[in-house]
Amino acid sequence: MTIVYQQEVVELLKQVIEPTLKNDIVSLGMVRNLRIVDDYVYLRLCIGSHQQQFKTEVEAKLSALTWCKKTYIQICTIPGVKITLGISSGKGGVGKSTTAVNIAAALSLQGAKVGLLDADVYGPNVPQMLGLGQADVEVIQTPTGDKFLPLEVQGIKLMSVGLLAEKNRPLAWRGPVLHKIITQFINDVEWGELDYLLIDLPPGTGDAQITIIQESPICGVILVTTPQQVAVADVRRNIYMFRQVGVPVLGIVENMSYLICGDCGSRTYIFGSGGGEQLAAELQAPLLGQIPIDARICSGGDSGNPIATSEQASPASEVFRKIAIALHTNFTTAI
Ligand code: ADP
Repeated sequence: MTIVYQQEVVELLKQVIEPTLKNDIVSLGMVRNLRIVDDYVYLRLCIGSHQQQFKTEVEAKLSALTWCKKTYIQICTIPGVKITLGISSGKGGVGKSTTAVNIAAALSLQGAKVGLLDADVYGPNVPQMLGLGQADVEVIQTPTGDKFLPLEVQGIKLMSVGLLAEKNRPLAWRGPVLHKIITQFINDVEWGELDYLLIDLPPGTGDAQITIIQESPICGVILVTTPQQVAVADVRRNIYMFRQVGVPVLGIVENMSYLICGDCGSRTYIFGSGGGEQLAAELQAPLLGQIPIDARICSGGDSGNPIATSEQASPASEVFRKIAIALHTNFTTAI
């Protein structure tokens, strides 16, 4: 019987449409943890700060259920944040943080209010990529309790687990401590008003990543990979995890796709070619862009100057900007 009830609930929820994205809230991954116990419906609604009306809409739709005694809706939102996006990768070293920083910078260039949460507990290096060394994080008192104040750098609001840790010390957090820190980290930052919050997720499909996905209203993820088959295999695992928890995959970014010859401009596919395209086709997720290997990406990361905002045009900065424009066009009317 529960399965029939569950289907009935899902059908009703699918009638609630996000007006700008023109899709239903189930397909958009906003409904999570749907459970029916003893004729009570429990669900979690992962929404942006501008989408609070969905609670009333969902309640109204589910009031049509004759058997349902009560609906319990838990709202998962980050105060002030409209769109929360995750940047993920199957493994470390493929350019996930580089992509997160450059997309954040390129979105900011579009005039959007952008925040970046560096939640890569295994290698939090976003502050350095934005030119910040070790900085003290201020804690402020708010009506809803003490909150971390994000730092502001190059027009981007930034918070990183790296800023809370001692320099050059590994973050040896495990189990419940890790869970508690991550949850606090997501909920206890005073972001102010943001159009986008990008979360640089830890690589892989471990505890830390799953906790963040479950505790935050991520409405889509961008997966970063390199063209090698081994990296592609890791991303495949990653994609299945997101699909299992109902988080939409917005697309794939293939990094280090090719090298451009400084003399003749020809492309060399050092790690092979076609991995990203193959993955995109197989998993029906768009290939958002292919980023070349470029020494300026690395030096820009080391010196805190993201290539996406560099005045000197380059194929890499073009790709990052194109991705940001595509994202902004998709979401902009929604915010
Ligand atoms: P991840 O977050 O996946 O561990 P990073 O973004 O930290 O990876 O990148 C790892 C290193 O590779 C950094 O030094 C970065 O500057 C460099 N890097 C990333 N992408 C490129 C690229 N396309 N060309 C040159 N260097 C790159």
